[in-house]
Amino acid sequence: MNVYADNAATTAVSKTALEAMLPCFQEVYGNPSSLHSPGQRAAEKLAAARDLFARRLNASPREITFTSGGSEADNQALRSAAALGARKGKKHIISTKFEHHAILHTLSALEKEGFTVTLLDIPPEGVVTAEQVRAALRTDTCLVSVMFANNEIGTIQPIGEIGAVCREAGVLFHTDAVQAAGHLPIDVEALQIDLLSLSAHKFHGPKGVGVLYARKGIPLVNVIYGGAQERGKRAGTENVPGICGAAAAFDEACEKMAEHQAYLTPLRDKLIAGLTAIPHTVLNGDAQRRLPGNVNVCFEGIEGESLLLLLDDRGVAASSGSACTSGSLDPSHVLLALGRPHEVAHGSLRLSLCEYNTPEEIDYLLAVLPEIVSYLRNMSPVWDELETGRRPHLI
Ligand SMILES: *Cc1c(COP(=O)(O)O)cnc(C)c1O
Repeated sequence: MNVYADNAATTAVSKTALEAMLPCFQEVYGNPSSLHSPGQRAAEKLAAARDLFARRLNASPREITFTSGGSEADNQALRSAAALGARKGKKHIISTKFEHHAILHTLSALEKEGFTVTLLDIPPEGVVTAEQVRAALRTDTCLVSVMFANNEIGTIQPIGEIGAVCREAGVLFHTDAVQAAGHLPIDVEALQIDLLSLSAHKFHGPKGVGVLYARKGIPLVNVIYGGAQERGKRAGTENVPGICGAAAAFDEACEKMAEHQAYLTPLRDKLIAGLTAIPHTVLNGDAQRRLPGNVNVCFEGIEGESLLLLLDDRGVAASSGSACTSGSLDPSHVLLALGRPHEVAHGSLRLSLCEYNTPEEIDYLLAVLPEIVSYLRNMSPVWDELETGRRPHLI
């Protein structure tokens, strides 16, 4: 059996999204900036996609900018808020220790440019609080950036409460909603969000398309310079096929959100129950306040990489953390921020489901995983030390 359980890394393009894209390659292939009819037909498609994102987020079309993905939207959001802050002499930014690297590395770059960054600690259950944000605010704070849902452990942050704290303090609030968009309801007005990033390939849209929402009145700075596309804020001929696919995928994901949530939650919970029944296994992140498709556990005495290879042999595509840190030997910064010791963090496994996964696949995962875990533990000298008491169990 083949099981794709790495939907937090990327998803398959849906039939709906593909069908929305196809005409844009050979029929409506004009450049939306061209004044002739083929160009204007492409411009109409682009406008329709922009309207759709605006409507689904409760924003206005002028507040929507298309980018090359979530990473670019994150970079542009942070740089825009930072530039606005700097003009007012405010150069302090608050974020968290478990953000995506598109945020953390942009913040490091901003630090080198003279900004001061406070990264909030992550409580053991993986949910930061609005109180933590409030306590970190300074008179020179220009931006708070807290992710909507974490990409490794799936925990959902109290975005509305943080939005309220920021609005009250007159500080811009950005959220990296890449994992949440299409999976959780998002209303930028109700949640008091000023800047928001999302990425199409995390909700069955194509790779290479992102959206930056920026509240009216927040000037964007360019990350890409060139032509006057996207009101001059993001140069480059728009990826019309990709954007149309992204809009169709987002529409479908929002339309069927409740249905997908109702389908996935019991599958997720069955998987969590089955995996945490394996001795010396712990769930990472709160059991309830998490994305409907996210399971993340640590098995003591195991290397995540060996586990992934054996799973791949059995047809299972999973991840040990995020796709971005795979290939490096450092344990996940998210699990370390959660307080997991290095040895434990190394034994992590993330299974991220989508509505294409079946109950049979969950049964298959629950059959192969305990087997592989025992096999690896039996071969491990560390496990031997743990079992004979020469080394204390940590979980
Ligand atoms: C995937 C992801 C990104 C990056 O999006 P890309 O479109 O791949 O650049 C940013 N933030 C989070 C939380 C993500 O999961």
